[in-house]
Amino acid sequence: MAYNHSQVEHFKQARERLITELQTQGIKNTKVLEVIYSTPRHFFVDDALFSHAYMNNSLPIGCKQTISQPYIVARMTEILLEHKPANNILEIGTGCGYQTAILAQLFTKVYSVERIEDLSKKAGKRLQDLGFDNVELYHGDGLQGLPKYAPYDGIMVTAAPETIPNALLKQLVIDSCLIIPVGRLGEQQTLTKVVRQSNHYYEQYDLGDVSFVPLCEGLS
Ligand code: SAH
Repeated sequence: MAYNHSQVEHFKQARERLITELQTQGIKNTKVLEVIYSTPRHFFVDDALFSHAYMNNSLPIGCKQTISQPYIVARMTEILLEHKPANNILEIGTGCGYQTAILAQLFTKVYSVERIEDLSKKAGKRLQDLGFDNVELYHGDGLQGLPKYAPYDGIMVTAAPETIPNALLKQLVIDSCLIIPVGRLGEQQTLTKVVRQSNHYYEQYDLGDVSFVPLCEGLS
């Protein structure tokens, strides 16, 4: 995909504005800010939405799903990154692959599960075109996690279940955390961090209100 000079300049200024806005909203981690600045979000949305790619909004990505708002991507990533050193991360809800791309630049290995095959395939193509070789995408039901490579040093879920899926808790390394929005669509949802303190003991923290598409059961 080729961009003309004014498009690149437009993107550069729009990216700078986005970073300033994220800082104003309280994002401090410089690694997260750098990665958001340098990741081509316009690559992950439809051509028709190019000019909106660096606005601090969620956007449609097809199949009634959305790419998360950059602030939410930054916040969830910052929480995961600052919890404790982590290598392998599991993401549930690949969507267009943007959050996957951010994680792949900050962690050694990222596994990502998406229930809609079409989205998973397109995300895989984008991530390959961008040269990511530390990402593995799976078409599957993220409510079950991804037992094959468990346990994980961190799990991030980018769609909201009504309650925290047990399977995900069981796939955490001791001392690692799960970041997950919890609540029904259209009702209050809470961004939640769960730390696995020991085999059977988990500590839960509420991190504020959010709005996500639902985590649905089964494949599509
Ligand atoms: N991180 C994504 C956000 C996508 S929206 C991005 O940056 O684009 C949430 C995604 O979660 C949607 O693509 C939706 O299809 C997916 N999803 C919902 N329920 C799921 C489940 N049970 N397993 C895996 N993915 C699921």
